[in-house]
Amino acid sequence: MDESSVKKAAEIILSAKSCIAFTGAGVSVESGIPPFRGENSLWNRYDPKVLDLNFFKASPEVSWPVIKEIFYDFFGLAKPNKAHKVLARMEQAGMLKCVVTQNIDNLHQDAGSKEVYEFHGNLQRIICTRCDYRVMAPDADFSKLPLMCPKCGGLLKPDFVFFGEQIPVEAYEKSVVAARQADVCLIVGSTGEVMPAAIIPSEAKRNKAVVIEINPDESHFTGNITDIHLKGKAGEVFSELEKFLF
Ligand code: NAD
Repeated sequence: MDESSVKKAAEIILSAKSCIAFTGAGVSVESGIPPFRGENSLWNRYDPKVLDLNFFKASPEVSWPVIKEIFYDFFGLAKPNKAHKVLARMEQAGMLKCVVTQNIDNLHQDAGSKEVYEFHGNLQRIICTRCDYRVMAPDADFSKLPLMCPKCGGLLKPDFVFFGEQIPVEAYEKSVVAARQADVCLIVGSTGEVMPAAIIPSEAKRNKAVVIEINPDESHFTGNITDIHLKGKAGEVFSELEKFLF
């Protein structure tokens, strides 16, 4: 990451009419949450079938203990890092319209971001698969698994998108509208392999947005729709960007 690219990116952000950020698992890596793919990733350690909707419904006694370990014992301890914090500060300063996130960890909201479109839901909410019962994770009783609904006896499920599930309609629609109106799109820590989420930056690009990517590695976006690649870890790059933005 050279300073002139960071400075140029900051100038583009500062002159934008509508800048949006699209974030993936990489933005939370410096908070201690590993990505799903690649070295040290979650799917190297756990079987992704526990998040397959049909498997989960058929074998909740197998899925729930793994889900609890990954998402509630482990993710629950994570705190926002510099990248989440600078993105929240950018929104407060009127430089950023919204964050479209593929993450389910609530770290953008914990950092203070208000306009967050959760493409894949949020692990904080736990919902009944049968009735309208819902509970926030800190209030749920994880001592007996699988979690069952105290109201109707149905199976409880984290309110994030499992394999085989639809994207939440409202988040999808708001994200597409924001992408179509954007003249700058930041992509932070995403491989671009997960569909349909990966269409969001492409949608912005189709409407002539300048695409600034922040990732230590190359992704499907790099060399394809990316205009400026700030090659580095999200927290480090945002520490540098911050100097020119505020
Ligand atoms: P991914 O796991 O496929 O890829 C992560 C990307 O982040 C890679 O391109 C990698 O090079 C990059 N990266 C790694 N360290 C980084 C750092 N310090 N700074 C910036 N970038 C870094 O992630 P994905 O494309 O977001 O897709 C995986 C899916 O898994 C998503 O849909 C997401 O919902 C889910 N997921 C969420 C979390 C979370 O909520 N924190 C964690 C893991 C997976």
